[in-house]
Amino acid sequence: MKYEDGMSANEVTLISLISACGIVEGGYVHGFAVKSGLLSETKVLNSLVNMYGKHGCLNAASTLFQIIKLPNLVSWNSIIKIHVHNGVLENGVLYFNMMRRVDVYPDQATIVAILQGCGDIGVGKVVDAFHGNVLCSGLDKSVPTMTALLNVYAKSGRLTASCEVFKGMKEPDMIAWTAMLAAYAMHGYGRHAIDHFDVMVKKGFEPDHVTFTHLLSACSHSGLVNEGEKLFNTMSSVYKVKPRLDHYSCMVDLYGRSGRLKDARVLIDNMPMEPNSGVWGALLNGCKVYGEVELGEEVAGKLIDLNPSDPRNYIMLSSLYSKAGRWVDFSKVRALMKDRGVVKPAGCSFIEHDHKIHRFLVSDQAHPDIEYIYVKLDELMIKIGKAGYVANTEFVLHDVEEDVKGDLVKMHSEKLAIAFGLLVCSDNVPLIITKNLRICGDCHNMARFVSRVENRVIIIRDTRRFHHFADGLCSCGDYW
Ligand SMILES: [Zn+2]
Ligand SMILES: [Zn+2]
Repeated sequence: MKYEDGMSANEVTLISLISACGIVEGGYVHGFAVKSGLLSETKVLNSLVNMYGKHGCLNAASTLFQIIKLPNLVSWNSIIKIHVHNGVLENGVLYFNMMRRVDVYPDQATIVAILQGCGDIGVGKVVDAFHGNVLCSGLDKSVPTMTALLNVYAKSGRLTASCEVFKGMKEPDMIAWTAMLAAYAMHGYGRHAIDHFDVMVKKGFEPDHVTFTHLLSACSHSGLVNEGEKLFNTMSSVYKVKPRLDHYSCMVDLYGRSGRLKDARVLIDNMPMEPNSGVWGALLNGCKVYGEVELGEEVAGKLIDLNPSDPRNYIMLSSLYSKAGRWVDFSKVRALMKDRGVVKPAGCSFIEHDHKIHRFLVSDQAHPDIEYIYVKLDELMIKIGKAGYVANTEFVLHDVEEDVKGDLVKMHSEKLAIAFGLLVCSDNVPLIITKNLRICGDCHNMARFVSRVENRVIIIRDTRRFHHFADGLCSCGDYW
């Protein structure tokens, strides 16, 4: 018997079997396909490629792909998708180019797969190329494709490009509206996020818990306390969305950043569920910003009990002590970290230039242009010093003399990346930098001054959010 699309009963059975298989059973079924002469069938091969890829066996998948006589769009999409999903974007792009050379046209699934695999750094070239492909292939009418593009622009620091993509959509769906809201939140554009939300509701979209997570986090990243409180209160009464842990964590963050630590504590005490590390972490951050040592100690204790191997809590507590000049307690925390084998990751910053990722460590000596970079940094520090910048050494966690602290803070990786960016990037291009840890207050201040004296937009993504520095100000309004 033949099925509608020309497959035999054996092929249909085999394909459904393969899609349900783990790697070991899949190997048996593969053997069976060889013995029964079904391995030459494209559909059977496609499903085997998928099965191997799903389990991370990229070599087996690629070998099977090579024996497909005439790979169809499904075959190409599978081989591209499995490489991208397994973190090998470059190979996904290589297969995409091979596909185009044999005149197979991409569809929405192809482009979305590649764009979803683009991380936040080093993807500028790939994203621009794929935007071109989207336009050429007429996929600019596809909302999921354009949403994937919007997301990747936002993740890589290009919020203006995200806005343009969104404005170009004729009929954005709920996912596209939410993606744009997330982009505003990530970049700390709280007011824009609230306006966007109002329009979205007017258009008849019903907000859900994801919408409110982005919205509250946008308020928190912009210091919009009253607006955030109002939204938190109306989410269940007006929109029938029950607050979850994420929403509480955003509210604690919002109160914590604005110094309302008591309100944050009351909110935690009245939560209908057990607070998690996200909620306590948000409170600890507030304690750190406002030097609340006592409450901070209590919260850090809870966090360390919850997750003894996470270095962030020890570091937060030790910096709380160093800020208060309590060096004995500071050393105790550091000793505890050592005893437990908890290591603080080295801070590093990345900047893309000339299709390469340039990586800087604190006091970097490894970059080939490092001599010029330090000369540029010295010039820059003198220039911003004249404009009023004073190094804030509280961000150096060492009990050393002030002038030594000044030197240490001067060599933070973000500062080196900024100096490098100014040396190599053309004048009108924003500098886009990614930091693996949270940006420190001194680097934040330095970036504000540099944006003014150099008349340059600087965008720094840290582990929490994007900071857009322009004309001496940051989009976070110094709340982060
Ligand atoms: Zn710093
Ligand atoms: Zn900022």
